[in-house]
Amino acid sequence: MDFASTRDAALARLEAFVETAPRYGRERNFVKPGHPAVSRLSPAIRHRLISEDEVARRVMAAHPFPVVEKFVQEVYWRTYWKSWLSLRPQVWTAFTQDSIPEPARAREVEAGRSGNPIIDRFARELAETGYLHNHARMWVAAWWIHQARLPWQAGARWFFRHLLDADPASNTLSWRWVAGLQTPGKTYLARRSNLETYIDADWLEPLSEGLADFEHPQARLPDSAPREEIRLPELPRLEPDPCLRTGLWIHEEDLSVETLDWDHLAISSIRALGQASAWHIHGASPSRRAWLQAALQDAAQRTSVKWNQPVVMNSPMSLERAVLDWAEECGLEQIVLMRPAPGPLADEWAALQPRLETAGLRVGLRDRGEDLDCRPLARAGFFGFWEKVRDRLQAPGS
Ligand SMILES: Cc1cc2nc3c(=O)[nH]c(=O)nc-3n(C[C@H](O)[C@H](O)[C@H](O)COP(=O)(O)OP(=O)(O)OC[C@H]3O[C@@H](n4cnc5c(N)ncnc54)[C@H](O)[C@@H]3O)c2cc1C
Repeated sequence: MDFASTRDAALARLEAFVETAPRYGRERNFVKPGHPAVSRLSPAIRHRLISEDEVARRVMAAHPFPVVEKFVQEVYWRTYWKSWLSLRPQVWTAFTQDSIPEPARAREVEAGRSGNPIIDRFARELAETGYLHNHARMWVAAWWIHQARLPWQAGARWFFRHLLDADPASNTLSWRWVAGLQTPGKTYLARRSNLETYIDADWLEPLSEGLADFEHPQARLPDSAPREEIRLPELPRLEPDPCLRTGLWIHEEDLSVETLDWDHLAISSIRALGQASAWHIHGASPSRRAWLQAALQDAAQRTSVKWNQPVVMNSPMSLERAVLDWAEECGLEQIVLMRPAPGPLADEWAALQPRLETAGLRVGLRDRGEDLDCRPLARAGFFGFWEKVRDRLQAPGS
């Protein structure tokens, strides 16, 4: 399977999906070879080769809203998780600082040797394609936590290494949800009848002995599930100075910056810099690295055309060295970038920003309007969030 790693390919995939979008609500839960009922756009949306708003509005322009509401709602699950985590970044920090060691059994499962042929099939698919259908992710996570009794953090780290769409918010919070940490008192259990209904019959038949594990699932409840408080209600503003000679840093959190208006800034140089150190720290698989490099290269090409200047693409091990060398080489006074959401880049940025300032560079952060609109709506559960987002999407002239 091929996952769009350029903006053109993502837009083409979206166009192909638009036609089938009305069937999504009925068919999305079925796990079939090639995953024909779902968009398979998640790597592109995660790294913003296209944005959630763009995807939703294209589908809404082609069909009456009630017919595609389920799809649009799913698209905004990503925005919800991202906004939720942005208000409570300590949840990501706690996950990354957790020193729970990887049990040997976990490594066997990851290698496709769990002993359960259904789980092994999904483990191989994840390693080979960098993708799993949403339902498969739920079943694997539920089996891992409640049946194999493995730590959810090790499972989340496994997915994060391999998924092309690996997302600090969607991945960590979905694993927490299955483990009963995200909605206290509620866990997700995978049941035999559910797998039998939704897995393609031909595909399941040779693996059917694996169904026994899903016969009477028993929830493994967490010892405690403290309510995570909002620790960052407001984002710190770092407005760029329009008068300074500015370098625009494109990074893997937002790979379509040319869709925004930058005319108010004096951009004199652009670099597309990947975060190779994080790929190393988080153990990104070779295919995830290759996907990211291709998407960064595509972003560099598009911005080069828009600003009519060469854009260098590079994935250095030290972002600090790369940015300081670039600033010196091009006589930059300011570096501007899209604000990274909680995750590996935000972690590195927290240390990098003061070092750049100490070196005499001003730094500016930019947000997308839709992110700023949605963020405060994620104070509580998804459905309250969704009602407000739906109104926003349907507002006349929006
Ligand atoms: C344990 C677990 C881990 C997950 N880890 C990730 C992850 O690291 N990255 C990631 O992008 N998604 C993650 N998801 C959510 C979901 O499985 C994927 O977004 C979805 O399967 C992507 O396939 P698609 O693009 O074909 O989705 P479609 O069904 O076509 O949906 C369209 C878009 O809506 C968004 N979306 C759909 N379902 C969800 C959801 N449940 N949560 C958040 N966004 C959603 C995605 O952007 C997706 O591309 C995880 C889910 C679970 C249960």
